[in-house]
Amino acid sequence: MLRVGVLALQGDFREHITSLTSLNVAVQKVRNPEELKTVNALVIPGGESTTISMLTKRVGLLEPLRKFVKDGFAVYGSCAGMILLSDNVKDAIEGQETFGGIDMVVRRNAFGRQVDSFETDLKFKGITDPAIRAVFIRAPWVESVGSSVEVLAEVIDESGTKHPVAVRSGNLLATSFHPELTGDNRVHKFFVENICRQLASSKG
Ligand code: GLN
Repeated sequence: MLRVGVLALQGDFREHITSLTSLNVAVQKVRNPEELKTVNALVIPGGESTTISMLTKRVGLLEPLRKFVKDGFAVYGSCAGMILLSDNVKDAIEGQETFGGIDMVVRRNAFGRQVDSFETDLKFKGITDPAIRAVFIRAPWVESVGSSVEVLAEVIDESGTKHPVAVRSGNLLATSFHPELTGDNRVHKFFVENICRQLASSKG
């Protein structure tokens, strides 16, 4: 059975566990390198990316997580999790480290400069109607993506500029918003069915 880990050092990992639980996968908290070894996919929750990266260092998970991403396992990050999967972060604090993996530039707290939190309905490529209700909380947006990155959803700001808020790069998925907070688990289902299970079946 597919065993999906949820990085459980800080942030809203409990909500991700609830969202995954109805999807017929084994779900498990990941708090140290030993627990990471027992899962074949991972979710990185929303929270505070600077705190999560500091705590992963403290428990010896920073390098194992980088390797997990490099080795091609399926990983989904929401909000702070998106920042942690990004190769390049703007408005990071000094010394802030990421796990990396997605060739993109994200800006921390990008919407926060205009409005701290908001909700909107989004079209999400690969998920059919109705639209996804997206909750943004001091969220990052994506400023640019490399050619390996597919944009799955975007929002348009007050000046008419489009900003990607959901992206996929191979087995890595990231959203600026928090589907774990709405009770609609279609983004988690997309991750499990279209990424985790596809990967498991391609490995035989
Ligand atoms: N602003 C937070 C950060 O930089 C992310 C906020 C969130 O995950 N809701 O990590």
